[in-house]
Amino acid sequence: MDFNYTDTQTEIAKMIRDFADKEIRPYLMEWDEQQKFPVELFHKMGALGLMGVLVPQEYGGSGLGYFEYVTVVSEIAKVCGSIGLSTAAHNSLCTGHILYFGNETQKKQYLPKLASGEWIGAWGLTEANTGSDSGNMRCTATREGSDWVLNGTKNWITHGITGNVAVVLARTGEPRTRNNITAFIVEKGTPGFTSGKKENKLGMRASETAELIFDNCRIADSQRIGEIGEGFKQAMKVLDGGRISIAALSLGIAKGAYEASLRYAKERHQFDQPIAHFQAIAFKLADMATKIEASEMLIYQAADLKNKGTKMTKESAMAKYYASEVAVQTATDAVQIFGGYGYTKDFPVEKYYRDAKLCTIGEGTSEIQKLVISRSILHQ
Ligand SMILES: Cc1cc2nc3c(=O)[nH]c(=O)nc-3n(C[C@H](O)[C@H](O)[C@H](O)COP(=O)(O)OP(=O)(O)OC[C@H]3O[C@@H](n4cnc5c(N)ncnc54)[C@H](O)[C@@H]3O)c2cc1C
Repeated sequence: MDFNYTDTQTEIAKMIRDFADKEIRPYLMEWDEQQKFPVELFHKMGALGLMGVLVPQEYGGSGLGYFEYVTVVSEIAKVCGSIGLSTAAHNSLCTGHILYFGNETQKKQYLPKLASGEWIGAWGLTEANTGSDSGNMRCTATREGSDWVLNGTKNWITHGITGNVAVVLARTGEPRTRNNITAFIVEKGTPGFTSGKKENKLGMRASETAELIFDNCRIADSQRIGEIGEGFKQAMKVLDGGRISIAALSLGIAKGAYEASLRYAKERHQFDQPIAHFQAIAFKLADMATKIEASEMLIYQAADLKNKGTKMTKESAMAKYYASEVAVQTATDAVQIFGGYGYTKDFPVEKYYRDAKLCTIGEGTSEIQKLVISRSILHQ
């Protein structure tokens, strides 16, 4: 398999670097410190085709594949993890769910707005008491005539306040039974649908994370995605693809931290020589470079299977698990290579360090990825 960028990937990477230098890099620390979600940036990214990367052109998207999508998310994350996370969540989760499971009317109604960046998408699976055990959710959707009435709260939802539309998973059957969850599209402004607390986070601070609250929120049956009771299976498939994007997010953060460390190790002198001359530092760089390339291989393996439409639950879990742990290790070593300066906000590595940790948690923790991988190995 050839992991070199194709011409399209090279063009995308260049476009993102130019865009990021002008529109992201100068502001990222301000957004981080103020926890500002820069919604206007995402409108601009929509104009560049970055908000509907996988959406076919007939619905206003870029019509690209997973290799290009990995390039988009990782190149953005190299500069800013928060913007990378929001790009991944918008493309893979809300947009992805409607793209893969919505009917023609729903696709025509929502995908052009999401792909153009005019609308920001949110996706609500997690609740306060059901994170890893998301299938045990409390949020309910009750049938009333031709409508559904939603009640409950979703937590940790990316774009929970700013999102114009949310795909929401709710329980439509008895607790702890099979096929008891259904997916719905809920627009902002629907009576009974509000946003709650915004989380004050360690990292990824420019990516908004907040509660979605449903209090007798009535929606038409036409907002249901797919069949009643299919929601959880849909969500797991959405996450299979989503995990490739979180792996790409991890890869971008790791590459950003590595490249900054490599430059610094050559420039910083101690004991009359560049610190890169000390084996302790050079070996850290060697570990970083090796693990980054290994991550890349796992990510492209999963992306290749996804492009071919082959089942890739194990491969995407492996890519997400490995790449996210590598991002944390690389960012930690990067702070060490920068010494005291790495512990300040004057250099980029402290932000990589804070942002990286999310990658081992969001869209399934590392422990849950190991569960998915081991189940798949054991039942092969
Ligand atoms: C910044 C951010 C953005 C997010 N965005 C979204 C979003 O847009 N939409 C959405 O629906 N969710 C979102 N999430 C939620 C995220 O997916 C959950 O936080 C994650 O799935 C973990 O759930 P939890 O936080 O409840 O942890 P818990 O499930 O309570 O886990 C706590 C610990 O127990 C471990 N654990 C749990 N069960 C097992 C087990 N069976 N075996 C071994 N270990 C186990 C976990 O690995 C973890 O270490 C987001 C979270 C964050 C932090």
